This record gives sequence, C-alpha cells and structure tokens, in this order.
Amino acid sequence: MQDLMKGKRGLIMGVANDHSIAWGIAKAVAAQGAELAFTFQGEAQAKRVKPLAQSLGVDTVLPCDVEDIASVDSVFEALRAKWGRLDFLVHAIGFSDKNELKGRYADTSRENFSRTMLISCFSFTEIAKRAAELMPESGGSMITLTFGASMRAMPNYNVMGVAKAALESSVRYLAFDFGARGIRVNAISAGPIRTLAGSGIGEARAMFGFMQKHSPLGRGVTLDELGGSALYLLSDLSGGVTGEIHYVDSGYNIVLMPRPDELKA
Ligand code: NAD
Repeated sequence: MQDLMKGKRGLIMGVANDHSIAWGIAKAVAAQGAELAFTFQGEAQAKRVKPLAQSLGVDTVLPCDVEDIASVDSVFEALRAKWGRLDFLVHAIGFSDKNELKGRYADTSRENFSRTMLISCFSFTEIAKRAAELMPESGGSMITLTFGASMRAMPNYNVMGVAKAALESSVRYLAFDFGARGIRVNAISAGPIRTLAGSGIGEARAMFGFMQKHSPLGRGVTLDELGGSALYLLSDLSGGVTGEIHYVDSGYNIVLMPRPDELKA
C-alpha cells in the first residue's frame, strides 16, 4: 500500500538520534507521504536532529523541553501559524534519574518521582490536549510509547514502571475524552531497543537480552517494525481502534514461563 499518510500532517516528539524509536516512526510515516514537524530537547540535540529531519525533507524543527510549559505552548503556536491544523501526534518522551533506575523501587526519592511522572506521563496529557485543539473535525490520531514493566515488576525499571502504568491509564482517559471528536489515542508497548533512554536502565543489556531470548519469536524488535505498527495506529487503517495498548515485543508479554529447554540453558 502506498501514500497511506498523504495529506496528513504530524508532530514527532522524541527524536534524539537515529536509534530513537521516534525516528523509526518518522521514517515509516514519511515514506507513506506524511508531512512532519519535529521537536528536539536542547541545543546539543539540535545538531543531531536537524540533519535527520532534513533527510526527510522536514523544515519545521522546534525546541521543546516538556518541563517548561511555555516551550510546549510555543510549539503549538508555531504549528497553528504554519499549518493551522494537525492530524497526528507521536509522543516518544521519557526520563528518570538513572541513579534511581537501579536498586529498589522503595528507595525512589520524592523529587525524582515527581519529575519522572511529569516528563514521562503528564507531558502526554498536556501535549495531547494542545494537539486535539488543532485536530480537524474529521478527527486525528495520537500515540505514545510504553513498556511492559508497567504491568509486571522487573528489576531496576522502578519508578519508570509506575510512570508507564499511569501513562497507559492516561491513554484510556484521553481516548475517552477525545473519542466524541473522532480523535483516537493509543500506545505502543515496545520490546527493548538499544536507545539512549533504554541504556539508562541498570543492567539493561542483560535484562533486554533475556526478554528477547525468551519471547515467542526468540528475538528483539526493530525500529522498522515499531515504525510499521505506528503507521497502522496513525493511519486510517486503525480507524476503529482507540484506548489500546498495542504490544510490539516479539510476544514477550504473553509468556509466564520460558520453555523447559530454555530454563535449563
Ligand atoms: P531516546 O533516548 O532516543 O528518546 C527519549 C526522548 O525523550 C529523547 O528524544 C529525549 O530528548 C526526550 N526527552 C526526555 N526528557 C525530555 C524533556 N524534558 N523534554 C522533551 N523531551 C524529553 O529513547 P527511546 O527508547 O526512543 O525512548 C522513546 C520512548 O520509548 C520513551 O517513552 C521510552 O520510555 C519508550 N520505550 C523505550 C523502550 C526501549 O527499550 N528503548 C521500550 C519501550 C518504551
């Protein structure tokens, strides 16, 4: 199928480099004709994000730190002035102090709990509200990125798991709020990918390797596969789907116990 996203304009938030999940998604939707705008966090990141954006023909590349609500507002003012409307949104933003992405969840500090929740969960609500205001009467689509440690405990993911659980609940509430306007809100629960954010988690390499090995497909997922699933959720192909947490994790989430031969290995 071709041109699935032709005529659609979307905001991509969360490209840090060419390993970012947001970058995999941007490539997939651009290849299907979408017109894009990107945000970046801080000048150091601009040097990596601007050339990536240019390679897709994107000339709207705006600074945004979600801890600073004025910078979020500026992004939407710029989009209103440039496009006057928005058809889809990709929120691929997460952060927690890496000193607390190891050891016990019980030791999470109050300060890092609040900051993690603001950046990794509440920013989606604030951004979704602004994006919805720009979406046309025909509706729109939004996605965010989550991880299976929202539902089950695992070592080191700690406060990020709690924030992802709240983010997934936000997806359902936002889908409920915006449904009457034809705006769909979904999340992709991605299997482990080696990114900047991913590498901040204690013992990431060993744990991610375990998950990949013991998934039904016996391997990790690729940026292209995440891009393909995002394309489905952002395009009209998924017209009847909202409030969904869509797992793209080689099936790891369905496994209670590895196969006997894997237990012995
Ligand atoms: P990444 O490091 O490439 O992207 C994280 C992005 O969050 C960066 O662009 C960073 O600038 C942005 N960010 C952090 N704090 C911000 C702030 N205050 N304001 C604006 N932007 C901010 O890593 P990624 O793995 O592509 O992460 C994207 C999303 O995918 C995150 O929500 C992450 O939790 C989620 N996710 C990642 C994995 C994985 O294994 N990598 C698995 C499941 C879900």
